[in-house]
Amino acid sequence: MKQMSFLLRNTMVVLVLVTSTIANGQDNKLPNVVILATGGTIAGAAASGAQSGYTSGQVNIDAMVNAIPEVKKIANIKGEQISNVGSQDISFEIMLKLAKRISELAAQKDNTGIVITHGTDTMEETAFFLNLVVKTDKPVVLVGSMRPSTAISADGPLNLYNGIAVAADPQAKGRGVLLVMNDWIQSAQTIVKVSTTSVQTFMSPLKGLIGTTAYGVSEYYKYPTSLYGAKSEFSVDGVTKLPRVDIVYADVDMPADLIDASVNLGAKGIVIAGVGNGNMTAAALEACARASKKGVIIVRSSRVATGNVGRNVEVNDDKLGLIASLDLNPQKSRILLMLALLKPRPLEAIQKLYLEY
Ligand code: GLU
Repeated sequence: MKQMSFLLRNTMVVLVLVTSTIANGQDNKLPNVVILATGGTIAGAAASGAQSGYTSGQVNIDAMVNAIPEVKKIANIKGEQISNVGSQDISFEIMLKLAKRISELAAQKDNTGIVITHGTDTMEETAFFLNLVVKTDKPVVLVGSMRPSTAISADGPLNLYNGIAVAADPQAKGRGVLLVMNDWIQSAQTIVKVSTTSVQTFMSPLKGLIGTTAYGVSEYYKYPTSLYGAKSEFSVDGVTKLPRVDIVYADVDMPADLIDASVNLGAKGIVIAGVGNGNMTAAALEACARASKKGVIIVRSSRVATGNVGRNVEVNDDKLGLIASLDLNPQKSRILLMLALLKPRPLEAIQKLYLEY
């Protein structure tokens, strides 16, 4: 009887230990990576593996991690669902929530890095925003996919595996917010989505890659040259809303009234997705100068995929009171301006931000 109760007690102890090991799945020797899931195609699902139609944000974080059991050998994973939307529906409310949570997690000693799963449509904006407001040198890595989880040859699982490997890698520290997709490690500052459907959709024109990764083995070539992380002056502590900044797209024979409408609707800033070197029609330029006189900040960016928008090239920015976006495209110019407008700044100070970030 005594022997039986001893056996029973010990069996129970073993059972309890096994259960807690499985529940926590922790290996003290491995780095700890937290995944914050927001939705996107990486969490998308379709009725069959060979159809182009699908819905973003259908699969939750557990299912995504369960699809890559190999990851347990490289990191201890914890997951949190921040939202589950296609990234066309990412809002500043979600971005602020993400920034706050990343800052909290990064401040915890035990966490090595953070991965954010996100749709690719607005990945440029979220990545750039986080790069400017999250003050940590721990790796913060965005991961997406172009094919839904149910597709033939889905790209999400390997992208997620590689993203986790980069987030767990001490060599990735201090490189700002990174994007890991299709074996490339790129900076939030440089990424541009260049294809609506190809798995090779993110490029870093002119500035190139931070590194490459293959099945979790990474090589790093450089650090970003812009300001980010702890060196960034921007903070969203206590911020619940960002000022309105609109983007107005320029094209041939562009009218001025959309710029006037934006001012009348209360925009504090307007980014022009200009033709060529941030150009627009004379009428549009006059509307920009009018807006600037009213205190609305006008940034000239470009609809062209690569190259800088230079100050005082074809447009007299000094005379008209305008800002040149330099190497930032319209969507990133908008994010920078929204953050800049959280406090009053003279035009020269805003222009300097475009040089630095
Ligand atoms: N609209 C989707 C999104 O951004 C498609 C892009 C993707 O995730 O690849 O969430």
